[in-house]
Amino acid sequence: MKRLPSISVAVFALVLSVMNAVLYNIPFLNFIAEHSEGTGWQVGMLITMVVIVLLALHYIVFSLLLHLLRYVGRVLIAIFFFLSGTCVYFISVYHNLMDESMMVNVFNTRYSEASGFFSPALFITVALLGLLPAIYVLVQKTHPVDKRSWKTFGWSSGGALLLSVVLAVANLNQVLWIGKYDTELGGLVMPWSYIVNTGLHFAHQSQAQAKEIPLPDATIANEDKAAVVLVIGESARKANFQLYGYNRPTNPRLSQLSDLYVYDAQSCGTYTVAGVKATVEHQASADLYEILPNYLFRTGVDVSWRTRNWGEPPVHINEYLTIDSLLARYDYQGEVFDDLLFVGIRERIESSDKNKVLIILHTSTSHGPDYQRQYPEQYGVFMPVCSSVENAQNEPDRLLNAYDNTIVYTDALLADLVDSLRTITDWKCAMIYVSDHGESLGENGLFMHGVPMKMAPKEQYEIPFLVWTNTITRDFRQPDCIIDQHYVFHSVLDWLSIDSPIYNAEYDLFK
Ligand SMILES: [Zn+2]
Repeated sequence: MKRLPSISVAVFALVLSVMNAVLYNIPFLNFIAEHSEGTGWQVGMLITMVVIVLLALHYIVFSLLLHLLRYVGRVLIAIFFFLSGTCVYFISVYHNLMDESMMVNVFNTRYSEASGFFSPALFITVALLGLLPAIYVLVQKTHPVDKRSWKTFGWSSGGALLLSVVLAVANLNQVLWIGKYDTELGGLVMPWSYIVNTGLHFAHQSQAQAKEIPLPDATIANEDKAAVVLVIGESARKANFQLYGYNRPTNPRLSQLSDLYVYDAQSCGTYTVAGVKATVEHQASADLYEILPNYLFRTGVDVSWRTRNWGEPPVHINEYLTIDSLLARYDYQGEVFDDLLFVGIRERIESSDKNKVLIILHTSTSHGPDYQRQYPEQYGVFMPVCSSVENAQNEPDRLLNAYDNTIVYTDALLADLVDSLRTITDWKCAMIYVSDHGESLGENGLFMHGVPMKMAPKEQYEIPFLVWTNTITRDFRQPDCIIDQHYVFHSVLDWLSIDSPIYNAEYDLFK
């Protein structure tokens, strides 16, 4: 083989960046082209901008690896190219996404299962798209890394970064679209799809095995039958609840209840993981303490967790029910919505072999940006709704209509739950509904949620917090302050008569 002429590190990084785009990111670009709305000209512009950002950012990364890690950096890039070539085969042939669930499969597959994929086409593709480029990365001669190459790296990377930022800012209005397709985009962009998702997989695995700090032992104080149904909402914001003064009838049923308690509340975070953790922990903490369901289960309470969502701290109880396990357990027809979580709650309480029951429902109804897909048709009270998220920015009224319909649906789910708990006579029952965080619907140009708490607009943390009970023997406390999600823990302890050293009466709504 004739020796390849030596080139500068900058040119080499550029060549690698072009190879990465052309060889491995065609499925990614293809997906964007197929799923973005607009005229051919607009889509062409978008793709051009994405390609420029893709080239610029990879140029920076590859330059950095070659400068900082030298030959080790080169080996890493070769490995990435080999893996990316393999991924492109699976993406093209099996339409796989290199998302987190795929990484779970990859790391849990035995050889005997994997060998089923072996075929001449696989080997040829991997040889041409993976091995050959990887060998090129290893053998291409480059000028040494020196002061001059660092200087070139400095100005060229600075320029590339600036260009990327300018293009990203110019396309800020695509944030809803990206939110809708984040899994697909993140599962297709090479090599980050498998790198980031592998990291996420192991982070979540270690999180799942994370040892929580145990709370001091508790005891059940009496044998009275008591149950709590805790409903954790998703992206439901206070401002759109009629119960809190919203000027549209989004709570046609709950607003009829005279025995529903409505609290002014704020979430402890603006994203699901933070909001749910705060809802099940006894006090604000960066550490993971034993969470409410685990603590009560250990104490002898009958605990069930039903979810159509994700992001909660590890739950260690006997009955953790996902959509699939609920569908297997109950007769449920048609498209799945959050009402699946609410099926059979009354029977579940009444048939318990314990005197204390806690059922937690982790819903997902107001999850964006596809609000119009989160409720059954009959709850489409406010019309018209947006036909797609792409149009949402241009049609803020339609986005609001769709969001308000999710609140109407939530209203019906909670009212049905209250109606059914009301028919239970020999248990004292409480229903607590609290959202994980709020939501932006275009105020100040913001959508969705997740702005850091310190800078977050109130739409993202002002949440509904509703309590209903079937007994009026207790006085409700109406704190004169705005409450937060930590009130759940201590109120539940009180309602179920759990004696615990960490019980804090200040956070008890039933005291
Ligand atoms: Zn959430």
